[in-house]
Amino acid sequence: MERLEKLIEESRNIVFFGGAGVSTESGIPDFRSVDGLYRQKFKYPPETMLSHDFFAAHTAEFFDFYRAKMLCLSARPNAAHLTLARWEKAGLVRAVITQNIDGLHQMAGSQNVLELHGSVHRNHCLQCGKNYDAEWMLESRGVPQCSCGGVVKPDVVLYGESLDNGTLTASVKAIFEADALIIAGTSLAVYPAASLIDAYRGDRLIVINRSPTPADHRANLLIQGSVGEVLAALHV
Ligand code: NAD
Repeated sequence: MERLEKLIEESRNIVFFGGAGVSTESGIPDFRSVDGLYRQKFKYPPETMLSHDFFAAHTAEFFDFYRAKMLCLSARPNAAHLTLARWEKAGLVRAVITQNIDGLHQMAGSQNVLELHGSVHRNHCLQCGKNYDAEWMLESRGVPQCSCGGVVKPDVVLYGESLDNGTLTASVKAIFEADALIIAGTSLAVYPAASLIDAYRGDRLIVINRSPTPADHRANLLIQGSVGEVLAALHV
């Protein structure tokens, strides 16, 4: 912890790269932990139900799963989200790059958040483009329909869909320019998101995760633990 504090204090351009593990302490299950969604029994595996093909072929089932498991609107930011927002205000953190779709970094006050996989808070009609918020989506039944009759789809990147090019480019640039990169709460199993960390060239690569990750062997500092607890315990 002392080394982590020192690394943070010495850095002025920290980039944080996170995943579903950043929000488990807010009560949102991740995918691959023991209590994650992949361990629960569904009719189809979660990757299938969150794929573009499934959305196109089984639209009503997609939305039943999506509303029940991916829309966690009562969740609130935890110590990890709040610390990162505070560090951004203090000029330490330049960007938060997240694979999460829950919007908790923005709720905590972070301004420069790059959402690689989109957000549950943006939804648009596939026919006329009209926007809807997440509360509207949660209250919808069956296949959510726009006033024009079109299907309203969440702006989240489903398996089989491409990531936004602008977000990808900005993320690579931020990581390339970072003097410290903190990777936390991610299994680094989802591509291309996980490959972005390869753009880091510095010598302050910090990994904070409950279980081993493919980046552990490269880390200058590896902390096995809960990211919210770890960040809350720092005096920075
Ligand atoms: P993942 O489930 O594959 O891996 C989560 C990792 O975080 C695991 O290694 C786990 O050990 C670790 N972890 C869990 N809680 C932690 C904590 N409190 N502190 C530190 N480490 C913790 O998640 P992923 O790598 O983000 O990839 C899965 C995909 O799931 C992402 O693309 C994401 O879009 C999506 N997803 C998002 C949410 C969300 O928005 N909150 C929730 C579930 C899944």
